[in-house]
Amino acid sequence: MWNAELIKSLRTMVGSRLKINEPMSRYTSFKIGGPADIFVDIESEAELKAILKLIRGGKIPYFILGGGTNLLVRDGGISGLTIRPGGSFNCGLRIAECGMRIAECGMQNENPKSEICNPKSEESEIRNPKSEIVRVGAGASLPRLSREAASAGLSGLEFAAGIPGKVGGAVALNASAFGKSIGELVAWVRAAYPEGEEKLILAKDIDFTYRHGLKEGIILEVGLKLSEGNRLEIKRRTTELLAMKKAAQPFGERTAGCIFLNPPGNYAGKLIEEAGLKGFRLGGAQVSNKHANFIQNIGRATAADVLELIEIIRARVKDYAGIDLELEINIVGQ
Ligand SMILES: Cc1cc2nc3c(=O)[nH]c(=O)nc-3n(C[C@H](O)[C@H](O)[C@H](O)COP(=O)(O)OP(=O)(O)OC[C@H]3O[C@@H](n4cnc5c(N)ncnc54)[C@H](O)[C@@H]3O)c2cc1C
Repeated sequence: MWNAELIKSLRTMVGSRLKINEPMSRYTSFKIGGPADIFVDIESEAELKAILKLIRGGKIPYFILGGGTNLLVRDGGISGLTIRPGGSFNCGLRIAECGMRIAECGMQNENPKSEICNPKSEESEIRNPKSEIVRVGAGASLPRLSREAASAGLSGLEFAAGIPGKVGGAVALNASAFGKSIGELVAWVRAAYPEGEEKLILAKDIDFTYRHGLKEGIILEVGLKLSEGNRLEIKRRTTELLAMKKAAQPFGERTAGCIFLNPPGNYAGKLIEEAGLKGFRLGGAQVSNKHANFIQNIGRATAADVLELIEIIRARVKDYAGIDLELEINIVGQ
């Protein structure tokens, strides 16, 4: 699979941003995860495309990492290449040449006047004069973007201030809170495919459902429909929703968000609590005392601890309520 020549070529492209046997615990909010064979931080789309071209021939598997905030990486790590779209995090919104706002964070796009500025057949759908389109790179921080939008007097992302992670991850998973989801705001997504193809996908062609967004391709950039509003009111609401989240969830602790999806008409956290598992501990992993749908890494938890705890929770909830809990977190690696 890997050979010295391939690694040398990669290193020529990205220099010290290439790492070998890089512990994924450094990149996940759980602070858990074995090593990635090869890890690369990407700063531009040109770099990403060159890397995809390079690995295509070698049939090397790759994994795209966002903020690692909904992720459990197994203790054996990730084989192949782990790619993290990053770039500048100095995120500000400015009006671009074609009248669209651009969030200057995330991966640099060397061609801002692409087909998005001059959409061919679907113009009316992409450009709605009543809303502003904010164009943002996949590697941008979602909470940061939410704050920037509020400061610019743009409404829509108030719910997202307390959802950690990146814009790309949020669109892949259709992140949501307080009854609002990012899918409702998406106008289009630009994505790359390993074969070298690139597509502009309109929202109507994406099946955004509960924790299900764009599941194919590598999300490069997203157009979000935001609306102009009262800046102070938007800021107030953003702060209020963030405070509500901090009060209800183990915010700032080593978790990966909710472990299970809420079953129809019920709440996973309520079921786990009623099954008597709040605070239940296995190795370094513990069911949160604050919100039972979160597992906390309270010491040196391994992925094996978390996986075992997940199975215990599933079995107890099945016994107690007859319900099969389905996973919300993404599990990768071996
Ligand atoms: C304290 C806390 C609170 C949370 N609260 C919420 C909440 O209220 N609502 C909610 O929905 N989630 C919540 N989460 C979970 C998590 O923050 C979101 O799911 C977030 O959107 C994940 O984004 P990420 O960038 O971290 O993705 P990652 O965890 O890095 O990746 C998740 C998946 O997305 C894929 N992916 C990432 N980037 C790309 C890309 N550019 N192209 C293609 N695929 C990609 C990855 O391959 C992986 O399969 C919470 C998590 C924590 C720790």
